[in-house]
Amino acid sequence: MSVVIYRKNIKQVYFMGRIVLNREKCKACYLCIEACPNKVLDRDTEVNGLGYYPAKVVGNQNCVGCAMCARVCPDIAIEKVYR
Ligand code: SF4
Ligand code: SF4
Repeated sequence: MSVVIYRKNIKQVYFMGRIVLNREKCKACYLCIEACPNKVLDRDTEVNGLGYYPAKVVGNQNCVGCAMCARVCPDIAIEKVYR
């Protein structure tokens, strides 16, 4: 994902990250929430098919694509990290 900002008629493109979280694989350990440096993730208020309150993405615009969340997830529920 990229963010385009126009400043004094100069187009500047900033590349940011983005993740894909499969809520149906999540077992609600919340390690990803602790690991994320930019508070992109939080707890969902609706249960998934496994009966857990999964993590959810609340601020993808703040994601820098560091992949810390995916590295700590024991259930490989964070399936993609784009940079
Ligand atoms: S680390 Fe994985 S299993 Fe744990 S809350 Fe995050 S997405 Fe769910
Ligand atoms: S990739 Fe990094 S910044 Fe983005 S949600 Fe995961 S831990 Fe947070």
